[in-house]
Amino acid sequence: MTEKKYTPLELKNGITETQVRDAMRTLLLAIGEDPEREGLQETPDRIMRMWKEIFRGYSPERKPAITTFRNTNREEEMVVDCGEYYSMCEHHVLPFFGKYCFAYLPDPDGRILGISKVARVVSYCAARLQLQERLAEDIISMLNEALKGKVRGFAIMLQGQHLCKTMRGVRNKGEMGVTLYTGQFKTNRQLRMEFLKMAELMGGKR
Ligand code: ZN
Repeated sequence: MTEKKYTPLELKNGITETQVRDAMRTLLLAIGEDPEREGLQETPDRIMRMWKEIFRGYSPERKPAITTFRNTNREEEMVVDCGEYYSMCEHHVLPFFGKYCFAYLPDPDGRILGISKVARVVSYCAARLQLQERLAEDIISMLNEALKGKVRGFAIMLQGQHLCKTMRGVRNKGEMGVTLYTGQFKTNRQLRMEFLKMAELMGGKR
């Protein structure tokens, strides 16, 4: 068996591992559990390690590098990229996840995004306590920054299934959709329709 290697935890605000462990144990006690029983002894540590990964979006040093290229062909066509994301809701610290579809309109005098990088930006921004709306904003703002604002418009659609709703039976499947448009997507209805059609095609019908 290979030994698991863990990098030191990047705890913020001067909080120590012991403090986190104690806090987790307190929560376990509060729900009526025994943190000393075998199955739970390692749980506070496991949660700490998992949080380090799923909340890496608070660590600027783990921000993905976004490659851009000069728009030598003066491309103007809409570029679309779809995929999946996983995040944690800030109200209940429970997962929400789903499909995203992202598009942008390159500026002929600007730069082109390395499209494979979008997925990394999405998962980095999702690795925080989020709201679907803010996740959409964070993704667009990071990509806009990478293009230095030289872009004709962004569109993003996030479908989300929220476990905080599904588990409590609040809403049928707890599904929500959010869209955000900037630039020409905001002003041009035809472009939005085109984007939504592409999103449907690429995201697949459910
Ligand atoms: Zn929630």
